[in-house]
Amino acid sequence: MLSWEQSPGIALMRRERAWVEVNLSAIAHNVQQIRRLLSDQTELMAVVKADAYGHGATTVAQAALHAGATWLGVATIPEGIELREAGIDAPVLVLGANHTPEQIRAIVHWQLQPTLCTPRQALIFADVLAQTQQPSLSVHLKLDTGMSRLGTDWQAAAEFVQLVQRLPKLQIDSVYSHLATAEDPNRTIAKQQQQRFEAAIAQINACGIYPPRLHLANSGGTLSDATFHYDMVRVGLAIYGLYPADHLKAVLDLQPALQVRARVTQVKTIPPGTGVSYGHRYVADQERQIAVVAIGYADGVPRNLSNKMEAIVRGQRVPQIGAVTMDQLMLDVSAIPDLREGEVVTLLGQDGNESIAANDWAAILDTISWEILCGFKHRLPRIAIGK
Ligand SMILES: *Cc1c(COP(=O)(O)O)cnc(C)c1O
Repeated sequence: MLSWEQSPGIALMRRERAWVEVNLSAIAHNVQQIRRLLSDQTELMAVVKADAYGHGATTVAQAALHAGATWLGVATIPEGIELREAGIDAPVLVLGANHTPEQIRAIVHWQLQPTLCTPRQALIFADVLAQTQQPSLSVHLKLDTGMSRLGTDWQAAAEFVQLVQRLPKLQIDSVYSHLATAEDPNRTIAKQQQQRFEAAIAQINACGIYPPRLHLANSGGTLSDATFHYDMVRVGLAIYGLYPADHLKAVLDLQPALQVRARVTQVKTIPPGTGVSYGHRYVADQERQIAVVAIGYADGVPRNLSNKMEAIVRGQRVPQIGAVTMDQLMLDVSAIPDLREGEVVTLLGQDGNESIAANDWAAILDTISWEILCGFKHRLPRIAIGK
């Protein structure tokens, strides 16, 4: 079978209906902006889990490494394997927890670096490694300082780290924790987590153990406070060009990398009183010109945006009307003269002077930009632009 790139017919079809454009120049720009906040001693991990928040893991990883990131972060082993199969040899930290012998053998085979969250998990790793030829494995120890997710309680850090230190074949590469409220302008809880982290590190040092690397910050932590940077920062959202919170906009200039576009497939005039889409949740109060657009909730346009979102056509914002359906949605294009089939509509991203960002959708839906970005489905081809 031909791949997308090999077949000109299919390559054309990638922009036939609806697609996601990923601007690699924006990724590079964002990485460089973030790097400027960091000291020379602080490394930048590009977090490319969940297919790089929907942007395409391997293209984003390559662009981020080229622009100054030195580590990659993924959630799962298959996500790490995808990077290795693409020929990427940068260090890859698996942020999620893994326990089974099969998982551990895959981590070793693909030269991924695991997160160890508990003493029990460390013992399983040591057991499985003992049965392999592998001389050693770099591991990262996770402490829970207040997120109440993965990790050993910070007060038990010293025992945990000492145990791993004594186990054969396990090399401690880093000790890390994760902030629960990094986006909050009120830093009380984040600062408390930092104090706990530092108290745990002091205890670890008191045992004569000095982990080569400490890290704590996600995007919010990285943008909000340089004392959160330590030896490395783990940045996802900001690399994709979105601010974790509005109050952090002054800190640096980010450009959204993702644009979602789709084609107009039909244009029609409807008389006053005409209902539009399932349930007739929109009824025209006067004659309207409407456009049918080939994208829907099966592509990742949330149905809850029905009658609430806008799109950009020929550089002009127009309202979406009626229920978003599985594969299509309708726009009121009365303000756009002579709109034709095949013209391109921008759902997210920039067209002329207008732009709509993931955080605009997130605000309407009372959710966060992270969830919007991860919501675009595989039916939408990812097209890299701006190299
Ligand atoms: C997802 C994740 C990050 C990145 O978070 P952003 O807010 O997108 O920067 C960092 N660290 C861990 C442990 C994560 O799971």
